[in-house]
Amino acid sequence: MSRRWIQNPNRCSDEYLDGIEDFIEFALRNGMIETYSIWNLHGEQLDPPSSSNATRMDSVEPIVDPNDQVMDIIEDVFPFASTNINNEREDDVPTPIHSAEFEQYEKLLKNANQELYPGCESFSVLTAIVELIHGKIKYPMSNLCFDYFLGVFKRMLPTDNCLPKDHKQAQKVLNGLGLGYEKIHACKNNCMLFYKEHETLDTCLICNESRFKMTSQNRTTKIPQKVMRYLPLKPRLQRLYMSTHTATDMRWHKEKRVDDDVMRYPADGEAWKEFDRTFPEFAADPRNVRLGLATDGFNPYGVLNQHHSTWPIFVFPYNLPPWKCMKKEYMMMTVLITEDPGRSIDVYLRPLVDELKDLWTNGVRTYDKLTGKMFTLRAAVMWTVNDFPAYAMVSRWSTNGYMACPVCKEDVTSGWHARKFCYLGHRRWLPWDHKWREKDKEFDGNTERRLRPREWSGDEILEQLNRLDFAPFGKTVSWPDLLHI
Ligand SMILES: [Zn+2]
Ligand SMILES: [Zn+2]
Repeated sequence: MSRRWIQNPNRCSDEYLDGIEDFIEFALRNGMIETYSIWNLHGEQLDPPSSSNATRMDSVEPIVDPNDQVMDIIEDVFPFASTNINNEREDDVPTPIHSAEFEQYEKLLKNANQELYPGCESFSVLTAIVELIHGKIKYPMSNLCFDYFLGVFKRMLPTDNCLPKDHKQAQKVLNGLGLGYEKIHACKNNCMLFYKEHETLDTCLICNESRFKMTSQNRTTKIPQKVMRYLPLKPRLQRLYMSTHTATDMRWHKEKRVDDDVMRYPADGEAWKEFDRTFPEFAADPRNVRLGLATDGFNPYGVLNQHHSTWPIFVFPYNLPPWKCMKKEYMMMTVLITEDPGRSIDVYLRPLVDELKDLWTNGVRTYDKLTGKMFTLRAAVMWTVNDFPAYAMVSRWSTNGYMACPVCKEDVTSGWHARKFCYLGHRRWLPWDHKWREKDKEFDGNTERRLRPREWSGDEILEQLNRLDFAPFGKTVSWPDLLHI
């Protein structure tokens, strides 16, 4: 059998292909050496003996002490507490920013070290609460049901046990682990927020509506007319770097992504690449966060209250691998509005926009568990994700009427047919010599001779927006319907 074909560099040549065919026939006729099961002479790696052991070990679920797990969580949340970090410089050690934070840490640590009852070896108070609350969330359990079982467990345990008596007490112990939110008062008519420079006002500057509900004189606490919830973004982004798992995943887009010609991830797209070229300083650190922003209304009461709608605003980091970045664990709710804000959504976006601006210009000092050092984390919103009606609210481009298309802008082909707006002219995007361009009867009776509408750059759109005068917000202000720039 000739073996000259093996040296032929062109593996598609007839000589090479014929050679392979002859070789397979030869192998079929004569068989192969049975002991040659690992093809180490043909590129296959010989398994080192330890690695096969390791695979076997991996497949067995490791037995982890729940007490250790809870301690890991506490260390992740309070990075200044872990002592085994290799720091090169003193100032790289994260320090507790607030003394309140340190107090919370100490309280959690106390509960983590306290036995559930004297002599109990398997559960600390904190481990017991964490496991019970985990079950409550995993198998959606009402507070009432949870309190009932907690009462039963408490009676089962020795009398001097430290199990909390209800969900409120249990939640209190866990408070230090969670992330809080701010309540910001808003004008009843959505004109403005009582926030920052307007925090001390009692009436709305635009419609003069009172900030608080009318209550009897002897009430000491005032009840606000409307409240929005704001969940600060910075601590949530910082948490992504508090665990080695998520800190590794947040670098995925740069360090693990396969960069070839195939489009399968936002970083493969032109927008991402253009952003990197425009802001090389931001792009240089893969830990800087690229966010998407999404909003839509939904009705949590279903048929019970048809008129209500709740509007959450979410952001999510695109740094993560595609199988994670759209998971609910990584979606961060930042704003919660308890009614349809309509065109006043900008009013409610203000705290988020303020924080995003600060994250873009100044960033926030963040502890990175993977390197054990502090760094300045910055963030940018790359895309917004909305359905068409919400798009109009967020972008201010009206998605109704003759010029509804935010891509074609004034160059849209639209008309009024059968008592509806119709948008035509899609054939403009076809290649110049495409046969469908010549067809008239099959479409609207015309051949298509126009080029595709031009693309607008971000700067041009910003310049157009700056020319607009965004009138005061709110229900009481009469305002022309959404604008077409
Ligand atoms: Zn008002
Ligand atoms: Zn269009």
